Amino acid sequence: MRRKLVAGNWKMNGTGADLKEIDALGIAWAAPRVEIVVCPPATLVSRVAFTLGGQPIRVGGQDCHAEQSGAHTGDVAAEMLAEAGATHVILGHSERRADHGETDAIVHAKVEAAHRAKLTAIVCVGESLEQREGGTTLDVVAGQLAASLPDGATAQNTVVAYEPIWAIGTGKVPSTEQIAEVHGAIRDKLRERFGEEADGIRLLYGGSVKADNAEAIFATADVDGALVGGASLKSTDFSPIVSAL
Ligand code: 13P
Repeated sequence: MRRKLVAGNWKMNGTGADLKEIDALGIAWAAPRVEIVVCPPATLVSRVAFTLGGQPIRVGGQDCHAEQSGAHTGDVAAEMLAEAGATHVILGHSERRADHGETDAIVHAKVEAAHRAKLTAIVCVGESLEQREGGTTLDVVAGQLAASLPDGATAQNTVVAYEPIWAIGTGKVPSTEQIAEVHGAIRDKLRERFGEEADGIRLLYGGSVKADNAEAIFATADVDGALVGGASLKSTDFSPIVSAL
């Protein structure tokens, strides 16, 4: 049985003043039935971890470098995130693929780094609007999945997030049939490659998840939770999504 998971991706938002949102989440979810992960910008990872103390809510980074240390100005190693208190890291988000030219090969190396540092990698895949309209969604996602995941991926160290690029921050959400089709295809590909282990790998949906659409999305086959952007910034928006799971 896969444990449900809701992850909040704060993207490049949040300062010390927003730690009050973490306090509020900690109070609301002192004993959650589902797994909750908050991924603030790197500057806040240790402060969020400290604010949560021993509480069950987890902290994640939004990216890491493939190497452990070295001459890579501005980058953060997976081991550094782990030391700061992170247990998860989002990798291969479409914004990083677009803004920083991250290829599947780069994402693959970063996922291996996350595993080396004992972090759970939340690996993002998803098609553009052009690819969706061109009918290549399943091929695109299968290709990203095959090339981004290393052989060492397990149910414990890897989560896959399906985030159609056209649904991110737009208020547009695929139909539940479309989500079920892609998640089903991802599950099939994972089974082909990882056998029974694939049944334990959680598949998150991401892209304009809000309190009012969360229930329908979570009721969809092969959806084990969500990767939430904008609606994860305020606990009053995020908590109802957690409740819906
Ligand atoms: P929104 O929830 O703001 O659409 O962002 C989704 C996302 O990119 C999460 O990683």
